[in-house]
Amino acid sequence: MSFLSLYARVLSLLGSEARAAFLVVAANLALAVAQFADPILFGRIVNQLATSQGAGRAPQWGEVLPLTAAWGGFGLFTVAAGVLIALNADRLSHRRRLAVMASYFEHVLHLPLSFHASSHSGRLMKVMLEGTNALASLWLPFLREHCASLVALTVMLPLSLLVNWRLALLLLGMVVLFGIMMIWVLRRTESLQGTVESYYSALAERASDALGNIPVIQSFTLVDAEARAMRDVMGRLLTAQMPVLSWWAVAAVATRAAATLTLISILITGIVLDINGLATVGEIVTFMAFATTLIARLEQIVAFVNVLFLQAPKLRDFFAVLDTVAGVRDRPGAVDMGRLGGHVVFENVSFSYDGRREAVSNVSFDAKPGDTIALVGATGSGKSTTLNLLHRVFDPTAGRVLVDGIDIRDMTLHSLRRNIGVVFQEPMLFARSLEENLRVGKADASAAEIALALERAQAADFVARQADGLRTIVGERGRSLSGGERQRIAIARALLKDPPIMIFDEATSALDATTERQIQAALEAATRDRTTFVIAHRLATIRNATRVLVFDQGRVVESGIFEELMARGGRFAALARAQFMADARPAERSPEAPEGALVAGVAETGGI
Ligand code: ADP
Ligand code: MG
Repeated sequence: MSFLSLYARVLSLLGSEARAAFLVVAANLALAVAQFADPILFGRIVNQLATSQGAGRAPQWGEVLPLTAAWGGFGLFTVAAGVLIALNADRLSHRRRLAVMASYFEHVLHLPLSFHASSHSGRLMKVMLEGTNALASLWLPFLREHCASLVALTVMLPLSLLVNWRLALLLLGMVVLFGIMMIWVLRRTESLQGTVESYYSALAERASDALGNIPVIQSFTLVDAEARAMRDVMGRLLTAQMPVLSWWAVAAVATRAAATLTLISILITGIVLDINGLATVGEIVTFMAFATTLIARLEQIVAFVNVLFLQAPKLRDFFAVLDTVAGVRDRPGAVDMGRLGGHVVFENVSFSYDGRREAVSNVSFDAKPGDTIALVGATGSGKSTTLNLLHRVFDPTAGRVLVDGIDIRDMTLHSLRRNIGVVFQEPMLFARSLEENLRVGKADASAAEIALALERAQAADFVARQADGLRTIVGERGRSLSGGERQRIAIARALLKDPPIMIFDEATSALDATTERQIQAALEAATRDRTTFVIAHRLATIRNATRVLVFDQGRVVESGIFEELMARGGRFAALARAQFMADARPAERSPEAPEGALVAGVAETGGI
């Protein structure tokens, strides 16, 4: 995006408050005109006085009074317009800054998980704060001065030609010189500044990554290494930043020098022209004032281009995020389904992350309300991906997913997801109170509903033991709770949502076997009328499933109820036998295998 189109986009964001922006801009234009009139009137007054003196008589009040009054009037008007601008410009840009920030935030929350998997939250945060600050830092000077500066340049220059074209050409020459210098400095420093900005992004990512992993950093004694890595990035950043700063400092000094030279040459040229009868004293005065105003404007523009230049990479990042469209979104005419029955059908569904290797390959199954479908298989065999296709984290590359006989792409995302409860392997909680975390499931849940959900998720006891009960704050991502406690809150949260379809993606793997068995019993009651999908490594879950789907490299290689699969003597049976043997001979069980687990090691080595 070029600087001009970038700037145009920045200004277009003021559009939603067009009236206020228009008011400020109009005041600016009036101000510019007043400022143009100022030197002309002043020049006329001087001429009037000079003429009288030239004629050898004292000037009369009557001769200069109208001009002086007009001059004073313009002065007062300038003050009034200035007040109007100052009051409104700041308010407008503050309001818009927060409004744009809110829309960025909402947009980012809507972006698909696939986007978030590849962009760091620290970077998104940095882009949000810096992008909106950059916007405000361009809006304010636009509203306060640039608008008037632009008018000054485009109106003052041609009009000055009418006053005295010889002197005007001098001014014009100065403006052209400024332009050339600006473009030259921009060209020299643009790519360097891009590099600087990428280092800033690296800093933000590194810092937030480290802050999110402090336990690891401390226990692996990485504090020095992390701090050093940070200083390294900063060193490289400064190395890239320094030449940019030098060039812009040179530009600023050159601006001053050019200004002084212009004033001197206007004065000298003016005197020469006056001697030859080609300019009046008043014109010289007018042009000196023109030049001073113009120089001040040009300096503002240089400073502004500098700001735009420094902010450009931030703005480009900001707009890049804003322009990211969700791959998964509502089709035109998508319907709100209300509450679904929960009849889930996968029809020859395939999905690939990279367009080459299929993570899910031609998967078909049918799950009716009340069914519990267990998905088993080695890690990486495509279980999570398959279930992610059900709540549209991604859309299938081939085949389709139906719920109640309707392609889920024909439903609104919102209504689909409202009907599906997901308990993730990593139970992400908000750094809010337990109660607020539970209410994520149902905002208006009654105390009795919350108590029941906690009971079913086997969480009531430990919640009662917390110092502040339901009002206990759980820390960032629920850090102040143990893994099993977090998981039970996440389960209670999903139960409160009370959806017709439930997904448990290794949701119980953080629980010990006893707790899991207790939850299992409770979940069975809670999932009776729902369609439930469970990814689990433990036998108990799988044994009670209506159907077991055995995954291998994205394909369903076996499916059936537990007994059938055992009788078939295939992959599943082999794994289950290993499991039974481990259970039968506890003394030989590998020490790290949790009790009752469908030994994770076997699963990971592809034993299933
Ligand atoms: P499972 O849940 O059975 O352990 P997944 O469905 O998570 O397996 O992964 C299936 C395959 O897809 C794996 O090879 C994994 O590396 C790959 N995969 C998973 N998530 C992503 C992702 N966000 N981007 C690219 N590849 C992925
Ligand atoms: Mg998984």
